[in-house]
Amino acid sequence: MRISCKKCGTRLSKDVEPITSKHVLSREDGSDYVAEGSAFKEEGQFWPRHKDCWCLNKRDVINLTKTSRLHRLNGCCDLDGCDGPNMVCATCRLEVATAKLDCWMPHAMVFEIGNVKIAT
Ligand SMILES: [Zn+2]
Repeated sequence: MRISCKKCGTRLSKDVEPITSKHVLSREDGSDYVAEGSAFKEEGQFWPRHKDCWCLNKRDVINLTKTSRLHRLNGCCDLDGCDGPNMVCATCRLEVATAKLDCWMPHAMVFEIGNVKIAT
């Protein structure tokens, strides 16, 4: 499967394989929540706010850039994503994902369910 922008169609991920929670997940701080090459539909147990959103490894996302809304860019060592979506489509600037990359959490790129299209 791959993820693209709902508004302009720009591709936002490499080809990734959907996985289940059996295969996931590292919940260790600073480690990858999902392995490179895979995608996990968050079930809400770990990140309730992102229930049903696709979580990818940060190395599998493309054509994303940081939002210009500075209050979304908080974090200690990197983005914490606690203030809402902090990544936008590089083409049309639609808010498409939340980068969760800070030192006190597992790392993931979490896509906004309403703003992306999934192709299989
Ligand atoms: Zn777009």
